[in-house]
Parts: sequence; C-alpha cells; structure tokens
Amino acid sequence: MQRDIKRLVALMTLEEKASLCSGLDFWHTKPIDRLGIPSIMVTDGPHGLRKQKEGSDHLGLNESVPATCFPSAAALASSWDRDLVKQVGVALGEEYQAENVAVLLGPAANIKRSPLCGRNFEYFSEDPFLSSEMAASHVNGVQSQGVGTSLKHFAVNNQEHRRMSTSAIVDERTLREIYLVSFEGAVKEAKPWTVMCAYNQVNGQFCAENDYLLTDILKKEWGHEGFVMSDWGAVNERADGVAAGLELEMPGNGGGGDRKIVQAVKDGTLSPAALDLAVERLLTVIFKAVDAKKENASYDPEAHHALARKVASESMVLLKNDDAILPLNKACSIAVIGAFAKAPRYQGGGSSHIQPTKLEDIYEEIIKVAGPGVNVSYAAGYSLLDDEVDEQLIGEAMEAAVKADVAVVFAGLPERYESEGYDREHMRIPANHQKLIERVSSVQPNVVVVLSNGSPIEMPWIGDVKGVLECYLGGQALGGAIADLLFGVVTPSGKLAETFPKQLSHNPSYLNFPGEGDRVEYKEGLFVGYRYYDAKGIEPLFPFGYGLSYTCFEYTDLTVDHKQIRDDEVLTVRVKVKNTGRVVGKEVVQVYVKDDETSVIRPEKELKAFAKVELKPGEEKSLTFTLNKRAFAYYDVNRKDWHVEMGDFTIAIAKSSQDIVLTEKVRVLSTDPVLRPTFGRNTTIGDLLADETAAPLVEEMLQAFNQQSGLMEALKDNPEMATAMVRYLPLRALVTFGQGSMTEEQLSEFLQELNHPPARTR
Ligand code: BGC
Repeated sequence: MQRDIKRLVALMTLEEKASLCSGLDFWHTKPIDRLGIPSIMVTDGPHGLRKQKEGSDHLGLNESVPATCFPSAAALASSWDRDLVKQVGVALGEEYQAENVAVLLGPAANIKRSPLCGRNFEYFSEDPFLSSEMAASHVNGVQSQGVGTSLKHFAVNNQEHRRMSTSAIVDERTLREIYLVSFEGAVKEAKPWTVMCAYNQVNGQFCAENDYLLTDILKKEWGHEGFVMSDWGAVNERADGVAAGLELEMPGNGGGGDRKIVQAVKDGTLSPAALDLAVERLLTVIFKAVDAKKENASYDPEAHHALARKVASESMVLLKNDDAILPLNKACSIAVIGAFAKAPRYQGGGSSHIQPTKLEDIYEEIIKVAGPGVNVSYAAGYSLLDDEVDEQLIGEAMEAAVKADVAVVFAGLPERYESEGYDREHMRIPANHQKLIERVSSVQPNVVVVLSNGSPIEMPWIGDVKGVLECYLGGQALGGAIADLLFGVVTPSGKLAETFPKQLSHNPSYLNFPGEGDRVEYKEGLFVGYRYYDAKGIEPLFPFGYGLSYTCFEYTDLTVDHKQIRDDEVLTVRVKVKNTGRVVGKEVVQVYVKDDETSVIRPEKELKAFAKVELKPGEEKSLTFTLNKRAFAYYDVNRKDWHVEMGDFTIAIAKSSQDIVLTEKVRVLSTDPVLRPTFGRNTTIGDLLADETAAPLVEEMLQAFNQQSGLMEALKDNPEMATAMVRYLPLRALVTFGQGSMTEEQLSEFLQELNHPPARTR
C-alpha cells in the first residue's frame, strides 16, 4: 500500500518520534495508535525461530514455541551451496510468517578470527566472500517470504570476551577487506530490511554510535535503506546513536533512551532532521512488514524437518576416509559408541537456542537406515554431565568395539563448552571423549569418529582412526543425515569454511586474542584464516575449502575469455568438471585469485568465486564464473577506494585452498587515475626514479652528485652497487653528501619544479 511516510512523520510530536526509536518490550516496536502505526515483532534467528511466549531473555534461557532447528551457520556455510541456504531461508520465512513475526534477527556475518570465539557456530566463515555470499542467500530466502532480516553483528564482533565493552583495534585496510566485506555483499545484493549493530567498539567508538560504520559506510556507501537496530543492550549514549544512524534501540527500557533523544533535540545537540530521518526509516520497514504479512500463514513441519535433514547431509564434511572405511558396509557389525549418539549435540547456546519441533536420535536413525539384519550395538563411553574419564563406561565401549567389525565413535564439544556470552580457552575436546577415542582405537583398527562441535578442535588422535566426519551442529535432523552419509545414501559434499589448525598456537590471532582489558588489537591484519597459513607455510590439520567425497572429480579445459582486461571489464572463466567415480556426488569448485606482481602487502591468494555442482557418474559439466574489478582489487587507503594494481594475476581453480588443480593468467589494466605523490625533501631517490616524470630530472642530478661526491669514481667498476646505494637516500642527502653538487636553494627549486611542472604549451 502507498503511504506518505513523510506526511506521517510531520504529524508526529517530538515525543512520539522519540518513542518509536526504542522497543515496546523485549521483542516489539512501539505502536502509535493515534496515527495508525502498528507494532511489529522481531525475534531470533538465525537458524530457527525463537519466539518466546513469556519470560523474555536474550540468552535463550526461557521457553519458546517449537520451530524447526536447521543446522547452524558454521554447518550451512560448509555446504557452499547458495540455493540450499536460500531454501533454508524460505522455510524460516514461512515459520516466521506463521508465527506472526516480522523480522528474523540474523543471519550473523561476523568473521571467524579465532577458533575460540564462543559464537563461531553462528558465524559462516573465516573468508569474507564466502561469508557474505552465504549471508546474502539466507537473507534472500527469508525476505522472499515477506519477512525481514537483521544482518548482524555490525561490525568486528569476533569474540564474546568483554563483548559489551571491548574495542577492536583494526587498521582501515583490514577492516575493509576482511571484516566489512563479510557484510558488504549481503547488504548490496540482498538488501536486508534491517542491520543489527554490534555490542563492541571499533577503534575506540561503540558500534551503536559509530557514524563511520552506520552512516558513511552502511547507508551512504552501500546504500542500505532499512533501519539499524541495536544488539540487545548495545546502546551507550542514545542521542549520539540517533545522530550516527542507529534508528532502533532494543530491547525497550521504559523510555529512558527516548527521553534522552527528546532532551537532545530540545537543547540542540541532536538535529530534528536526523530524528525525522530515523523515524522515516523505521516507518518504512514497519509498514513494509505490515504489507507483507500473509494472513493465516502456516507451514509443514514434516517438510521442514526433511529439508533440515537434506541440508545437514550436504553440510557435513568428510575429513578422513582411509581405506575407504566409509560408506559402511552393511555386511559388517557396527558398534555405535558415545553418548552423543543418543543425546545429540545439535545446536548452539545463547540467543539462537530454540525449541525443535522434534529431535532425531542418531542411534535410532542408524538402525533405520542400516535396515533389518545389520548388527548394531551401542555403548555410551562417557557421561554427558562431566569431563571425568569413567573406566567402566570406557571398558564397556571397548568390549562393544572389539566384538564389532567397525566402531563409530560420537564425540565433540558438549553444550557447556561453547556458547554465546563467553569464549573457549583451548581447542580440546573433553578428556573423557578423547580417552574414549584413544582406547577404542587401541582395540579396534576400524574406527570412524563422528564429531559434533561448533568450531574447530585439536585432534591428537587423528593418526589412530581411519575416518572422521565433521558434522558441526547439524540441527534437529542430524541423525538421519549422519546415517545417510555413513551408509552412502548421500555422498558427502561439504567443504570446510574455515581452517582447522593442528594446534591453537598456529592460529594467526593467537598472540592477540582476546586482547588486554577492553582492547583487542587485530595485529595479524589481513592475514586471517587461510590467508595466514598460506603466507607462513604452516600446514593446517585441514585447510579451508577441504572435504572428501565417495566419488572423484576431474577438472579440465580451464579458459579465460581474455588474456588482458581493463579493470572496468569482466573476465569470464570457464572450467569443466567430470565425475570420474562410481556414485553420484557434488563438488565445490573454488576460484582463487592471486596478484602476481603486487607492490603492496597482499595475501597469497583469495577466494573470489565458487559453485557447487551435482554430477552423475561419468557426467561432465562446464562451469562459468565471472570476475569483476573487486576480484582483483585491494582497498587503497590513500584513494579511499578499491584499486587494481596493473599487472599479471593468476586464476586458480581449486578443490581446497591447498589443492590447486588448474591455473590461468590474465593481465589487468587499471583505469584509475595515477595518483601523483607530492615529493618532499625526504622522498627517496628510488621513489623518484620510479616516477615517470621525475625520473629523467633526477637521473641528471644524480650524475652530478655521483661525480662530485666521488661515488662514481669509487664504484666505477660496480655501477649497480652505486644505484643500490643511492636508492634509499632521501633527496636532502644530495645536499649533505653532494660536495656542492646541490645547494638548499637548488633543492627547493627542484621540488617546486617536480610538484608543479609548468603547464605545457602547444
Ligand atoms: C545477541 C543477538 C540477539 C539478541 C536478541 C543478543 O544477546 O547478541 O544476536 O539477536 O541478543 O536475542
């Protein structure tokens, strides 16, 4: 319905406008009945609906209505499947419509800087491009159903430790290339109705009042048209927040923030226009939600459960499969070991913790998929209540393992190990899980470990087992998904969206996580995740992009449509992929770009495109990728823009970040104006020689300098050395060491000429 929002705002009193800028309660915006402004409901998110009937909290403590629990983001991202993630979004949108909720609080696009972050299960990836593509697909899916999203937590919220007070100190280029890119694509492509600002400070300013992030970048540069809401309790100074672009404070707090807004307008510290703009943005989304509301909406819980199972099976990552131990042979007897098999770990703790419509028992699903006649036994192996090694339980597990042909051990991180609100302190699994794996593998050579965890763990036992299946937090239908993968009903196709280091100290943030007091410095800069392991040559346990299959794929015929492009043109990359194995499977084809000739510090290579493709045995498909300027650019802080340095680039087609199968070269020409530096007394000779205009003039002067200073004579047999020696001399050194070849006055004149060359006459 067409509405004149500006007119409506004009009818509102100052108090009414301010009142709209904070919640009614935990989950609703305020209505203004006199003007027909309704209240809408917002609620978590991201992988299932958390609608609380009573007893509101933002830590997932109180009950909520049953909803489908899909795999959490860490798992979803491992699918590398935009369509699948969109389907999850569509299903979520249906459930939100059915429960009359206008905005889903998610997805969360923060970068996984450290494996220790307690909320990594809710985040997609260590790579900003993958993260932003996954977030965009999620947003597109949800919003296709007329339900809004709140892309969160904007920005640089990469730890839970002191999350409401700490300041992330991050340089501008890293901020742009890593931490903001993770949001940027999703904002531009999918246009989330709302964005949620993070709790923390970025470079000393709270996100909730950070005009650089909320206004300059989000609204002006990226064109976000919706509103920004605070994370729950993230507001520091409310009026400053409105001025910076924070429209909605959540949750409602009895109007304290509203009164501050009114006061600020009255005393002139907040402009009435800024408040009007905030209210316009709020009303636009509120009415959009009202218009998109589907009456009598409902959803099919069984269909959503089935989708959750499919998604889980396509997200899980097969990390090890020696002797093709998987898929399991139904002629073998199987010992299912580990309490997680009957009480699965399937979702994370905190605000995303939901009440599932049902929950599969992994053991039962294994029995179902195995079918009649398959011998399956069970032993708990450990207690879920603590980390203590229980010799009796381990003994029973070993007995079951010895009697069977193969032991499948369920282990990982119990709920208490990772959650919103705090970070882990190490990457180990509980002692009783670890001991169980060690002891079972000491008596049974055929061991498969099935892991449930929200983020990477150390695996000192990796050499003792033949198979490892990483399930992340697989949602309510994880049991069926695991059974399908174990028996080969589905071929594994997930690939890691993050690096698994061999040990925590290998992680790039190790020395600076979680910081000192309220300050965490991102000293590793751009080198997050595989960008670091690549550059340092540190072998990870499992690299970014890695995952095995039950079939094999062959890559051929990589082509680029141009050997040279301008940076305002698009490069088309084609490659053929063939399934050369015996079962149907899906492959994630990854495209990385490397700047071969960079003069600035850049990662070895960066992910710039990917696709997931399904292939029957013997089937071949041709895939097409397009790469634009951003695929080749870095963020140039001098230009305050993305810039491509002219030169050669390598296009690498890869099965993982460490398994490059084909490469091609392309030369990219920059169309950006050349930035002419201003030269000064301290500009080095080398820098001047590299400048087209300055070089001839400097060469002339150098001749005189070399002669007068005696350098030429001293190094007459070694002119290269003479050049090397002067390269880092500042210009002023020509006066100091030039033995009269240049005076201070001549230096000033020379600089004047260099910086202001006379206008050319025809
Ligand atoms: C979390 C958000 C969540 C909000 C509402 C906060 O504690 O950081 O992700 O959406 O609570 O539950």
